[in-house]
Amino acid sequence: MCGIVGYIGDKPVLPLLINGLKRLEYRGYDSAGVAMIDQDKIWYKKRKGKIAELEVEINGFDLTSSVGLGHTRWATHGEPSEKNAHPHFDTEHKIALVHNGIIENYAQLKETLKAEGHVFASDTDSEVLVHLIAMCYDGDMAFSIRKALQLVRGTFGILVLSTHEPDKLFAARRGSPLVIGIGENETLVASDGSALVEHTRDVIYLEDNEMAVVNKHGAKVRTLQDTKVEKAVEKLPYDLVHLQKGGYPHFMLKEIFEQPETVWDSMRGRLLVEEGNAKLGGLQSCIDRMIHSSRLILTACGTSWHAALIGEYLIEKFAKIPVEVEYASEFRYRDPIISRVDTVLAITQSGETADTLAAVREAKQKGALALGMCNVVGSTIARETHAGVYLHAGPEIGVASTKAFTSQVATLALIALALGRMNQLSAEEGREIAQALKQLPDQIRQILEQASHIEKIAAKFMHHNHALYLGRGFNYPVALEGALKMKEISYIHAEGYPAAEMKHGPIALIDDQMPVIFIAVKDSVYEKVISNIEEVKARGGWVIAVVSEGDKACAKLCDEVIEIPYTIQSLMPVLTVIPFQLLAYYTAVMKGCDVDQPRNLAKSVTVE
Ligand code: GLU
Repeated sequence: MCGIVGYIGDKPVLPLLINGLKRLEYRGYDSAGVAMIDQDKIWYKKRKGKIAELEVEINGFDLTSSVGLGHTRWATHGEPSEKNAHPHFDTEHKIALVHNGIIENYAQLKETLKAEGHVFASDTDSEVLVHLIAMCYDGDMAFSIRKALQLVRGTFGILVLSTHEPDKLFAARRGSPLVIGIGENETLVASDGSALVEHTRDVIYLEDNEMAVVNKHGAKVRTLQDTKVEKAVEKLPYDLVHLQKGGYPHFMLKEIFEQPETVWDSMRGRLLVEEGNAKLGGLQSCIDRMIHSSRLILTACGTSWHAALIGEYLIEKFAKIPVEVEYASEFRYRDPIISRVDTVLAITQSGETADTLAAVREAKQKGALALGMCNVVGSTIARETHAGVYLHAGPEIGVASTKAFTSQVATLALIALALGRMNQLSAEEGREIAQALKQLPDQIRQILEQASHIEKIAAKFMHHNHALYLGRGFNYPVALEGALKMKEISYIHAEGYPAAEMKHGPIALIDDQMPVIFIAVKDSVYEKVISNIEEVKARGGWVIAVVSEGDKACAKLCDEVIEIPYTIQSLMPVLTVIPFQLLAYYTAVMKGCDVDQPRNLAKSVTVE
């Protein structure tokens, strides 16, 4: 959450900062600001709202400075407003700071600093950091920052500039990501590579408790305890074209339509169709330990948690290993019983999700094998786990996750297949699963061809304020995901349930104003779902159903149907979720919602 960008080089910094902030806007967008060194003073502008508002504000300023930083905020402490927007400054206005994270002991520190005469201008937790640095300043910025950071509890990714040392930027992290881009006579710092890739693909990832002193020739990294660290320069695994909308009106729609390719990219080189098996290079070293684990714990948040639920069904079915699924936030705080014979697999698109990262650390601490599944190469969870697997779905910019979800499910299916073949899954069963996996991209393509049909359903759906999503078995998590997608981007209240649970409560909500969205594909629970549809129809509910191709009987029962091709029951979620993504998308667009940057949300949830 929150986007940080900084630049030091020879070019005018202002347009570079604005451009960088636009690339990072998906990380937070309630307010934004920039600061730079101009003629021995700090010049700055802040604005409530999106980067476009800030752009209007700075229009006409033609400053020549080539050192600056910027921030796009996702408020945790203090409402979104101009005064709370970053950067924040010390009382003498000689230091500017942007921050991602939460300072947990800020209230205490603020009282102490105020008593010493520091004047605060915002309600944020972040502002204490810049006053602390000023308080600690003794002629050496790096030393003062290190000293100040020793006084804080919580998480931070910070970037600092100062008139005390105007030809440097200072970056430090504990818990919130920062990456340094090394260009020719220019160095950049950002929350993620998307703000760097136009300038350079050579990057250094800062680790927790490290600080970089940055000038235009590169960065020197030391720990916060002042020990020198040698950092490797790595390559960003994507380029600018991946960060553009490519002719689509929204990133979300582009990402939905990319899924035939992205699902295949997750399986490419890993799925062994002839052998009916899968080989995941990143997990090879620990696959034996996985299979001999007493249980697998899948931990995640949000959409990734829904993928994890499907993962539980897949792994238990194919590999016969007991699986538990845990919300990462609960896992961390409920002191779970974990031991050396357990494997914990953390699933997160960004690889930075604060709760999931904390769960990984808890698992490692207790001796479990800690594995990661994430999309962002080089992310913190990718680096901190014992081993792991990348999704290879390419950058996901839309805040509501789509292509990462289908890639997570496909990748979990590969893991289940590989573990299954080491356990009780026969070669024939393996081949059947592998064949079905191979067909998924084409089948997704077929569903996407129905986009305009789904758009028409959305035109009716958009007038409702509530909805129920119901599914059974492998499609129960898809009901949860469909409802979440709808909530996230259209602000229609939607709830997902196992279809059988409807009669234990939610059925009380059903009347002719209540859309009920079923997954009623031809699988082993088909007839049970049909009975549930009958129950809803008997009470006047409006039924939309995702059904199997050619299922006329079900179509007759429902008000609207979306047909999908047949695949084996365990892989259905990869297909059944696609209509739900499109339904949420078109509903949100028709309601005039900001699809790529929905209210109150942000990508990459780096706060707890
Ligand atoms: N906690 C800080 C604030 O509320 C930083 C939030 C962010 O990461 O954007 O300003």
